Amino acid sequence: MDELESIVRSEAGLHDLLESIDDLVAFATLEGRLIYVNRAWREKLGYSESELQKITSYQIIHPSHQDDVKATNARLMSGEGIVRVERILVAKDGRHFPVEGSLSCRFKSGKPWYVRAIFHDITERKHAEKMKDDLVSMASHELRNPLMAIRTALHLLHEEISPTKLERPIQVVGLAMRNCDRMVDLIKAYLDLANLEAGAPLKERDLDVNEFIERVVELIQPIGIHAGIEIRHEGAFGLRVRGDEDRLAQVLTNLISNAVKFSKTGGMVRVWAVGRADRVRVGVTDSGDGIPLEFRSKIFGKFAQAEGHARGGSGLGLAISKAIVEKHGGEIGFDSEVGKGTTFHFELKRAS
Ligand code: ADP
Repeated sequence: MDELESIVRSEAGLHDLLESIDDLVAFATLEGRLIYVNRAWREKLGYSESELQKITSYQIIHPSHQDDVKATNARLMSGEGIVRVERILVAKDGRHFPVEGSLSCRFKSGKPWYVRAIFHDITERKHAEKMKDDLVSMASHELRNPLMAIRTALHLLHEEISPTKLERPIQVVGLAMRNCDRMVDLIKAYLDLANLEAGAPLKERDLDVNEFIERVVELIQPIGIHAGIEIRHEGAFGLRVRGDEDRLAQVLTNLISNAVKFSKTGGMVRVWAVGRADRVRVGVTDSGDGIPLEFRSKIFGKFAQAEGHARGGSGLGLAISKAIVEKHGGEIGFDSEVGKGTTFHFELKRAS
């Protein structure tokens, strides 16, 4: 062992390391006597080394966690190796810090001896989670309800003034109505994604891929006819997957409506499926503009729309599609050539 190695491996070397990290480290007896706490711990909780003799490890844990502390101790003493916990720590000046980390117990002659704790501060993460919860709750009530009322009012007004043939008011109300519809769609899509991310369960069953595609294509056909684009289903028989039909229909509908949206009138969108070993790939091929190179890495992100290339929509469709496919344990991707067209595809595990 050379000199450097022996320093690094020595007690002093390890002590140095503990003092230099930002995570909070503590060694305590089961009664809560603090044997050692590192610099990050002392600084975060505001105790000097001499003050540590006067407090116990239990004192710095928020009272609401005390029952959980007992349960965790019982698990540690029963020999469970590492127990992961979330706690709120209370500093000397009364400030609270949410932390997460792990506890482990050292045994001596078969008896619990002392406990080691490593925590890191999750204040920022908790803050971000709270903001997101607030936003979701605001979008589902405070924003959505008045917007739905405005939308209904605008639609009624539009119906009322239409027979009057007053061109200008009809235009103005029509504009307000379309923008309102867009906002309603955006909020719906945002809440849908938040739900998926929060872990809404799938209703899975065995699906015949051909029948599934047929149903989706039939429903979306009017959009193709309206845009002057043929949506052609190229059958592939005998393929089955396990999945949530409504959710997968949402994915396929989004891919087809994007393909239609970004195709030229008179174009064709092909919807197909192929079996590949133990997987099934479903694809949607268009001969539209293709996806700009610089936009490709962002396309599955939230609110992503290519610059100068957005045709309505929320920019959430592909983010939702990705979340749904990945929830099924599948993969989503695309191949695109600027000026020639794009194929979006998703792959799912084959059902026997
Ligand atoms: P949007 O509601 O805006 O369609 P998506 O997440 O479904 O949201 O799509 C995001 C963006 O990806 C689109 O605005 C468009 O710029 C690009 N895009 C998606 N599908 C295609 C396609 N088939 N061809 C060209 N660009 C596409």
